[in-house]
Amino acid sequence: MVPYYSRIFAERGWDPQQAEKYWPKWPVLTQQMLQERRDELIAKDVQKSNLRLGASGGSTGFNKTFYHGRQFGQSKAAAVTHSDSLAGWAPGDRIALLWCAPSRVHGVHGAVRPLSPLRSLLKNQKLYNSYDMSEARMGEYHLEISRYQPDVIIAYAGSMFEMARFLKRNRLCPDYPSKSIITSAETLSQTMRLQIDEVFSKPIFNRYGSWEVGLMSFECEAHSGLHIAFTHNLIEVVSPGSIEPVWEQQGDILVTTLGEPDCPLIRYQIGDVGIMTKEVCSCGRNSLRLREVLGREMDVISTPGGRRAHGVFAGAFFGIDKVRQFQVVQRKLDRIDLRLVLAEPLNKNEEARIRSVFAERLGPEVAFQIRIVDHIDPLPSGKRAFVVSEVQ
Ligand SMILES: [Zn+2]
Repeated sequence: MVPYYSRIFAERGWDPQQAEKYWPKWPVLTQQMLQERRDELIAKDVQKSNLRLGASGGSTGFNKTFYHGRQFGQSKAAAVTHSDSLAGWAPGDRIALLWCAPSRVHGVHGAVRPLSPLRSLLKNQKLYNSYDMSEARMGEYHLEISRYQPDVIIAYAGSMFEMARFLKRNRLCPDYPSKSIITSAETLSQTMRLQIDEVFSKPIFNRYGSWEVGLMSFECEAHSGLHIAFTHNLIEVVSPGSIEPVWEQQGDILVTTLGEPDCPLIRYQIGDVGIMTKEVCSCGRNSLRLREVLGREMDVISTPGGRRAHGVFAGAFFGIDKVRQFQVVQRKLDRIDLRLVLAEPLNKNEEARIRSVFAERLGPEVAFQIRIVDHIDPLPSGKRAFVVSEVQ
C-alpha cells in the first residue's frame, strides 16, 4: 500500500481489487510531483531508514531527490549485467570506467556505491574521473588506460566524445579496449558516435538510464535502436500532455519501475523525448525498442519560429580541432549564446561556418552570439551539459 497511489484510487472511486482495469487511465507522475510527494510514494510497511536517498542534477543544476528501495540495486544490476553481456563483456573482463568520481559527486548517493575501491577491485574495474577532463589529465588517462588494457570501456557519452577528440587532435591511436565501448548517462548524438568510432574502431553500445529508475534500454549487436530493459522498467512513449501511446514518432517517455516495490514509480515522466518502434530488431529479440532517445526535454531548443531543435551542435565543429569544449546556452527564447573553449583563435572561415550551421538550425528569428570562455565546468553530477536553457 503506497499512500500516494491509495489516494488516487480513493479520489477517483476506483476499486483497488480491480487495479489492472484502470491502467489505461492511470495518470502521469511528473518530476515536480515526485519531489512534492516523495515521502507519500513509499509503501506503508517500509521504514524510511531502509531506503537510500538518491539525487540527480538536471541540466539546469536543479537537484531532484528520490528514494531507492531495498530491491532496486539487485534489479538494476541484473539489467545492467544483461546489457553488458550483449556488449561482449564476460565475467572477469577488465573494465575502464570514464565516470564521475565519488569525491566530486556532492551527496549523490547512487554514484558512490558502485565505485568504492573494494567494489572496483571485485568487479575488475578502474575508474578515470570524467569530471576532470583537462588536456593534461586526458593525456594521463590515455597512458594509464594503455597500460591497464581494458576489455570494455564504460563512459559518459560526452566524456568518451571528449576523449576521442583529444586523442585525434594529438594523433594518438588507442590500442584499447579489446572488445567494446559502452556509452551512457548522456545523449549520444550521431556526430559523437562517428567521432568515437573513428578513433577507437570498436563497436559502440549506447544505453539509456537515469539515477531515478536505473537502466531503461540498451543496444544489442545490431546497433539499431535500444531494447527496453523490461525486467527492470516498463517504458511507454506518449503524445505530450497525455497518456496516448505514439509509435514511430516523437513523444514523452514514461517509466514504470518493476523492481522497486518499496517506492514504485508509475508512469513517471522522466523528462526525455524518444521514439518507440513496433518493428522487430534484426537480432531476433522481440522485446520492444526505442528507435531513438532524442535527449532530455531540456536539451531541446524551442525558438520563436516554433522550431524544436535537438542536438543543435551536431557536426557544427567537424574538422575544427581547436574547439576544445562547447556549450549552447539559450538566454531567451530568441537569444542563444555559443560558449567555446578554444586552443587558438578561430579564423574567419571557421567562424563563418559555425555561424551558418547555427543560423540554419535556429532560424532567422534568433540572435546568435559566439562567446569565447576559459573553461566550461561540468554539472555537479559530472555530466557535461551541451545545452543549457535559462528560459523558464
Ligand atoms: Zn536487437
